[in-house]
Amino acid sequence: MEIGVKPNEIKAILITHEHDDHIKAAGILSRRFNIPIYANSDTWSAMESQIGEVKEENIKVFSNYEPFEIGDITVIPFKIPHDASSPCGYSFAEKNKKISIATDIGHASKEVKDNIKDSDLILLESNHDVEMLKVGPYPYYLKEEY
Ligand SMILES: [Zn+2]
Repeated sequence: MEIGVKPNEIKAILITHEHDDHIKAAGILSRRFNIPIYANSDTWSAMESQIGEVKEENIKVFSNYEPFEIGDITVIPFKIPHDASSPCGYSFAEKNKKISIATDIGHASKEVKDNIKDSDLILLESNHDVEMLKVGPYPYYLKEEY
């Protein structure tokens, strides 16, 4: 994706949860461009063996759902409903602007709603669960398409 930022200008990689499609490139990017990776301790434990070696200085573990700073930006991790160890969404606040993201959420829980409130930009991604689709009350033609 072309966003006008060079890989060596990226200041941080933030992990929401340890699922494959969310961590695959993290280790590679971190090693190649010396970028710190941020995740809570449960997520670090769950993904550690999958992302390869990461420099000690680039391992950034934050306390679950405790805000922290990256440069001038306050990062506010919040709990999301998803089947991973300690999945989280993030809000990013700087001055009076706020951006929130929540990925793979099955529904908007109270925590999600409370945290994305008053955001200037919200990015939400809902997940697609094959097992739920198979056993759920969906019409056959829809089940056939997964
Ligand atoms: Zn996931």
